[in-house]
Amino acid sequence: MPLRSLFACLLALGLSAQERPLVLKAARLLNVRTGKMEAPGLLWVQSGRIQAGPAPAGAETLDLGDRTLLPGLIDCHTHLLFPAGLGELGYLKRSHGTLVLDGVVNARKVLEAGFTTVRDVGASAGFGDVALRDAIARGDIPGPRMRVAGPALSITGGHGDLNGFPPHVHVEDDHIVDSPDAGRRTVREWQKRGVDLIKLHATGGVLSNHDDPGAPSFSPPEFKAIVEEARRRGLDVCAHAHGDAGILEATLAGVRSIEHGSLLSPATAKEMKARGTFLVPTLYALESILLPGNPYKITEGSLAKARAILPLRKAGFKVALEAGVPIAYGTDIGVFEHGQVAADFRYLVSYGMTPLQAIQSATLTAAELLRLGGEAGSLEPGRWADVIAVDGDPLTDISTLERVRFVMKGGKTVQKQP
Ligand SMILES: [Zn+2]
Repeated sequence: MPLRSLFACLLALGLSAQERPLVLKAARLLNVRTGKMEAPGLLWVQSGRIQAGPAPAGAETLDLGDRTLLPGLIDCHTHLLFPAGLGELGYLKRSHGTLVLDGVVNARKVLEAGFTTVRDVGASAGFGDVALRDAIARGDIPGPRMRVAGPALSITGGHGDLNGFPPHVHVEDDHIVDSPDAGRRTVREWQKRGVDLIKLHATGGVLSNHDDPGAPSFSPPEFKAIVEEARRRGLDVCAHAHGDAGILEATLAGVRSIEHGSLLSPATAKEMKARGTFLVPTLYALESILLPGNPYKITEGSLAKARAILPLRKAGFKVALEAGVPIAYGTDIGVFEHGQVAADFRYLVSYGMTPLQAIQSATLTAAELLRLGGEAGSLEPGRWADVIAVDGDPLTDISTLERVRFVMKGGKTVQKQP
């Protein structure tokens, strides 16, 4: 069959232009596994995936100039359905529908900033995170690939409960768990609603009233029941935890990742390392709470908690780094503005990581945490064609990741700046 009629046939079959071979060319490509900067940077994609070997003759070439190609970035701790600076009262005044529409807007911002995959950990909004994930997966709206947790499980009076309001103010409490049996039932219910993982609050938090970030929440039998049931359903569990006792109890119960991990001790870090428990540090979120002028209108009680935790968290992060705990990139966007999703790179480096380690946390390690190592996190053949490009060399200027110039997700160009 002559080539021209072959193309005509393919088009008639409805195959889009994206499925033809496309070569991406730039001055450099960072191999995130070896840390080697390849020059020039070349790869070719077809059918939404990165292909092996040389590109076929006649493939179209997209020349991105003096830029560096990297894998699409992964944020393991987002709140896409939670507008920054909303606060508790703002949240109470917002309908589920409004929160989901906020999520639609934020999903686009995050994707255009170079994040092609996120793990969204804790959205109330009637499982609106599940709906958002599915709408993006269908291609109805632009956004990153999502793994979602639904509402985070909390004890009565814990970080996920709405504290500080008079008893007659009654809000959703399906996510409140006060016994092992309730834990098992809630995990089953959440799976029925379509979540990909379970999130729980293992200690108090910063942006909540009357709970102590240092104190553990669930009893050990409750932790165990939740994690065990999640495992039986094929779901991983991630645990919000600031205080060391809660981090240790959640780790021993078998959670896959600790979120924040502020007051981590060397002994607990050793336990995490031995068990392969990931840390998702969310560094900038705490810094953003304490920004001059209080732009996110944080309450005085939460500001005081943040001030007390910040110096300890810097030490806790170093403890994790020195112990060799796997550290996966996570921001807690929703605490701060979604468009700033790349802000944590600067903080990871200023807290002690090399630029390569910071990039690996948002690619290789994050993909591993999400069990997507064969699909995402590197520019290796067979992976999704999730590719970004930045100006200059991110190994010498990590802040260039805050100005992503080109984004491709699944072989489709999402964003391209001249
Ligand atoms: Zn969070």
